[in-house]
Amino acid sequence: MTNADTNQTVTGTEQAKVNLLGLTEAKLVAFFESMGEKRFRAAQVLKWIHQLGVDDFDEMSNISKALREKLKAHCEIRGPEVLRQLDSADGTRKFLIRVTGGSVVETVFIPDGERGTLCVSSQVGCSLDCSFCATGKQGFNRDLTAAEIIAQVWIAAKSFGQLTPNGPRKVTNVVMMGMGEPLMNFDNVVDAMNLMMHDNAYGISKRRVTLSTSGVVPELDRLGDYTDACLAISLHAPNDELRNELVPINKKYPIAMLLASAKRYIESLPDTHRKITIEYTLIDHVNDRPEHARQLAELLRDVPVKINLIPFNPFNLSNYKRVSNNAMRRFQDILMQEGYITTVRTTRGDDIDAACGQLAGEVNDRTKRSERYRAQFSQAEPVTIVSQ
Ligand code: SAH
Ligand code: SF4
Repeated sequence: MTNADTNQTVTGTEQAKVNLLGLTEAKLVAFFESMGEKRFRAAQVLKWIHQLGVDDFDEMSNISKALREKLKAHCEIRGPEVLRQLDSADGTRKFLIRVTGGSVVETVFIPDGERGTLCVSSQVGCSLDCSFCATGKQGFNRDLTAAEIIAQVWIAAKSFGQLTPNGPRKVTNVVMMGMGEPLMNFDNVVDAMNLMMHDNAYGISKRRVTLSTSGVVPELDRLGDYTDACLAISLHAPNDELRNELVPINKKYPIAMLLASAKRYIESLPDTHRKITIEYTLIDHVNDRPEHARQLAELLRDVPVKINLIPFNPFNLSNYKRVSNNAMRRFQDILMQEGYITTVRTTRGDDIDAACGQLAGEVNDRTKRSERYRAQFSQAEPVTIVSQ
């Protein structure tokens, strides 16, 4: 068990309590065995926490009083504080979540008919500094723990009454597309995704949980050993020269390397016909020309993909502009003529700043990057979200 799984505020000689919220079933089994308890307790506790939203051991009626007392003495079930919940006119719901240390991360729920997609954060800020991303401009503070990641699903599901017997199944899909780069926080993200998909926790199908990465190739290379979730690649450019500018990690792991790794992952999955989602944020006069679309079609010829075009969402620490509707349609048409399934991500939750790339939270920035950007944009208002 790592420190990240435990409550780190230890007073006096009191032992830190183990936070059960972020433990996978395998880790819970190990934990119960280490206490001299039966393995099946893990499944029971997992269901109480993730299917019934319980955080009080006294409510766990199929667990003996003696064991409940033992659990109370050594463990806790503790999610971070929800600072604020914002509801958009279009049904989008955003949660501002304050994590230990004071920073605020964001989680967004996007309803679409029967489907409800939760966009989950993996880090406080992001160290990768993509030029078009509000999160990147906020700098970086730390990785979220597995408990803090799965807590976002727990909190959202509870807010809809989902974690009650026969509660509505509102959160049907999860995308790791909130703040942070999931592969830079590999172990905690993999544990949280395991809980999302586990039958004794949220039981979401592997086809409905997606990890999005800007391309941390060494971690992507080992992802298949730990999960079989869907994969999205944030490509945004059809050649290395342009991608180096937009997604700086490309200088370390260029496109050919990234696509080869993504292809290996998708081809290693037991079920065939799965496709990698290619995310391509269209920025006015930067990567939206017809020749970019043609080059992209050529580049992806041998990779099993579907393409998701995302109109750039402006924010006030960026000079980039949103793509025109014409350019976007033209770009999509070219890709479709070339035989690619190509969808356009509609902007949702605009009125509560919940659209892609607008998630900035409040990052206690250890990198000082946010100061640098604000100085450059001294005319502009800083990106802040005011708490209640
Ligand atoms: N770090 C991961 C996941 C979080 S970003 C990644 O980069 O994939 C989720 C998606 O939103 C990525 O595809 C990202 O490129 C896109 N995005 C970031 N800023 C954006 C903006 N301002 N407008 C539109 N999309 C943006
Ligand atoms: Fe980080 Fe993804 Fe934003 Fe790039 S796009 S800065 S990797 S969160």
